[in-house]
Amino acid sequence: MDDELKKMIRGIALLNASEHDGKTRNDSIISKVIGTKPELRSRIKDVIPLISQIVIDVNKLSMETQRKELENEYAELLIVKPKQERTGLPPLEGAEQGHVITRFPPEPNGYPHIGHAKASIIDEEYAKMYGGKLILRFDDTNPEKERLEYYAAIKVGLDWLGVKYDLIKNTSDDMEIIYKKARELIDAGYVYVCTCDKETISKNRREMIPCKCRAGNLDQNNMRWNKMFDKFKPGEAIVRFRGDMSSENTVMRDPTLLRIIDESHPIHKNKYRVWPNYDFAVAIEDSIDGITHAFRTKEYELRTELYYTLLDKLGMRKPKMLEFSRLEFEGMPVSKRVLKPLVEEGKVSGFDDPRLPTLEGLRRRGIVPEAIRKFVLSLGFTKSDTMPPFETLESFNRKIIDPVSIRLFIVFDPVKLTVINNNLTEIEISNHPQNDMGKRRIKIDGNFYISGSDTRTLKIGDEVRLLELYNIRITKTGPEMEGEVTDTNYKPDIPKIQWVSRKNPVNIEVLISDVLFINDQFNENSLEVKQAITEQHYLELNVGVEIQFVRFGYCRKDSANQAIYTHK
Ligand code: ATP
Ligand code: MG
Repeated sequence: MDDELKKMIRGIALLNASEHDGKTRNDSIISKVIGTKPELRSRIKDVIPLISQIVIDVNKLSMETQRKELENEYAELLIVKPKQERTGLPPLEGAEQGHVITRFPPEPNGYPHIGHAKASIIDEEYAKMYGGKLILRFDDTNPEKERLEYYAAIKVGLDWLGVKYDLIKNTSDDMEIIYKKARELIDAGYVYVCTCDKETISKNRREMIPCKCRAGNLDQNNMRWNKMFDKFKPGEAIVRFRGDMSSENTVMRDPTLLRIIDESHPIHKNKYRVWPNYDFAVAIEDSIDGITHAFRTKEYELRTELYYTLLDKLGMRKPKMLEFSRLEFEGMPVSKRVLKPLVEEGKVSGFDDPRLPTLEGLRRRGIVPEAIRKFVLSLGFTKSDTMPPFETLESFNRKIIDPVSIRLFIVFDPVKLTVINNNLTEIEISNHPQNDMGKRRIKIDGNFYISGSDTRTLKIGDEVRLLELYNIRITKTGPEMEGEVTDTNYKPDIPKIQWVSRKNPVNIEVLISDVLFINDQFNENSLEVKQAITEQHYLELNVGVEIQFVRFGYCRKDSANQAIYTHK
């Protein structure tokens, strides 16, 4: 063991020496040794003397000798490994390379949101990880809630996220298969048609009592099944699975598999009125679609027993069903039950309101898809229901947009400033402090706007620097300030203020979002609208670009006169 360890340390030391002009050091080696063999952390006291001795030995050798030994004895260390992008996702149980099929199965009953981003990104990443496929399947078997608008919105959302699927389908296109499977279950006596009213059914479920329909024979079930397609009205008959009315798992107490819905379906119009519910549709679809690994959120966990039982009874192939936690942000609910009323009551401007965690809302706010993916993957495949702070997503976003955001001046609560001895007519300013994002020219005539907050403490005689321009001495205060140029040298200890030339100012509104709900109460102050003045150059930028307004924060240009605050 010790010989092996010494050899490992010597290899690391030689490699490190070769990268540092033939000299290595204890501290660089210790962290590398622990990085390679974390289990050594607990015996680090024994390992350090070994390292010190080896470092001394290696440093005594000439660089030539070091290089020879490295090449002859440790060639494997010289192979540059491609950096593996860590996804944060653990290996999938039972997954075989080339044979993984996942699916993202949204119901087209609303706009996609951050939770859908999590689900679809995980589905896609696993398909990629195993060289498999991702199916986008619209689980559209409740025509009461579904609309064509939502199918489209979900596709647009996935496109924007950059989630690529290999196949797209609708559960509703498989209705004939679903009816065939229902018939099989009827014939085998695994299901029955129940005509009890809703209240009786709930009461029996609670009290674990079977109803008389359960005892019905095949003839009765066949007759009732046929009547579900014409005679019965919605609610008068449902197909129930013969589960276990005394099961600890309430889902197994004879759950509904099919019901009557007399609503026009967005695709099939009035072709069908008997529709499978979620459990029945998902089990059949996952199986026939060849799904190997199916994921859903944790609150469906109790339904997994039903999922496997149904497939057993039907003699169908069983995918592996796994659960992860729901993703949402504090004060920013994703549930349709909460979002729809907000839109309908006009409390938000639409599903793309920047306060919403919908993909459209996040996009308008200036969150980029790559940040969402990094954020989702950083959370991993977890079951624990921790609500990550929105700031975590913001910090991924900031790293991505900072290098490509143009810097512009912005002024709030404007005060006029006239520089009486200005002799410039135009200046050129870099669009980004480090990166080459070009330059812009600004016309100048000595008349500026500066922010009210910057003027408050200024007194006659004070010296300030107008950023990128020159230093001035204040000669008059008040709403129409005046100053005169002193010099142009950069002085570290005078205040620096930004300005907008009064030759061609651009008036904009900046929308600033706050959380929608505070302690479950709608936050009436969740949207602040600030009037601002910015540079002419704003008008030349495309809608959708990110701007860093100096000393204010990142904003996305939403229109010629509106910017949306992204984050600090
Ligand atoms: P709702 O109750 O709003 O209808 P749902 O879970 O039924 O929510 P679907 O549109 O049917 O929503 O979901 C499609 C997929 O996205 C499912 O696999 C679901 O588990 C997943 N999903 C939905 N919401 C979230 C969320 N907040 N976090 C993670 N995954 C989610
Ligand atoms: Mg749903």
